[in-house]
Amino acid sequence: MHNPAHMMGILAVETNLPNVPQAVVFDTAFHQTMPKTSYLYAIPMVLYRKHQIRRYGFHGTSHDYVSKRAAEYLGKPLEELKIVSCHIGNGASCTAILGGKSFDTSMGMTPLEGLMMGTRSGDLDPAIVPYAMNKEELTLSEVNSMLNKHSGLIAISGISSDMREVVQAMNEGSEPARTAFEMYVYRIRKYVGAYAAAMNGIDVLLFTAGVGENSDVLRKAVCEGLTFLGIELDEARNRVRSGDSRRISTDASRVEVLVVPTNEELLIARDTYRLVRTSKEAAADE
Ligand code: AMP
Repeated sequence: MHNPAHMMGILAVETNLPNVPQAVVFDTAFHQTMPKTSYLYAIPMVLYRKHQIRRYGFHGTSHDYVSKRAAEYLGKPLEELKIVSCHIGNGASCTAILGGKSFDTSMGMTPLEGLMMGTRSGDLDPAIVPYAMNKEELTLSEVNSMLNKHSGLIAISGISSDMREVVQAMNEGSEPARTAFEMYVYRIRKYVGAYAAAMNGIDVLLFTAGVGENSDVLRKAVCEGLTFLGIELDEARNRVRSGDSRRISTDASRVEVLVVPTNEELLIARDTYRLVRTSKEAAADE
């Protein structure tokens, strides 16, 4: 979805500014530290070897930025923290970050896997695909479009893929909107629990991106079912609106719950600067 637009940009710069160095910062790069047990699918290995079918993960730039920012905010070494980062925007993913490195993430070979999203289904039984194709006489492209563009919040609420509109409809009494909201929250909570188990603990729970940064209602609903992990939300702190990183857990909470506004552009700029400087230094050395 994104690559054709990126290629157009790269080619346009190459044509018009041939002497300007270009750097490509991949959203999957942060997840390259995942162990095999996280990135392999339990399907015939020929698919991995021949076609590189494996989990790659996305939103890496964001998860990388917010985890570093969280350690800085807490004044603790990133290497010692077990973080579950929830990037909840139009697309949504959770990442288990162990000592600053991605250990597991909810998106897979494509961004379709994992959490329920605005228009994407997230996890589902793969047998549904051939079954639905057969029953509804769908083509490959139609089933792809159904799962990526016509599922998730919009499919269940029947109202919108925008969380603001779903919450508003829920508050006005819409049952489908309530179901959509509750499913969305339930799936985030399940991933937080799974990743706490994957890392044998959790020190920090992070919320970022459009919904994560702005929806106190969603954050409250997610945290409410996680008290067994030592997560205690401070309701007044959670309601504060601010563009800065902030703690929303109580002082007694065993797990720090933070809202950290993401800044993918800044991380891309830093990575680009580092890459360009390193390649210039290498050229100067030759
Ligand atoms: P992003 O993909 O990170 O730009 O996030 C975009 C999404 O954030 C939109 O589709 C909205 O659903 C959501 N969003 C923005 N503001 C709010 C808010 N105050 N409450 C709930 N959702 C919000």
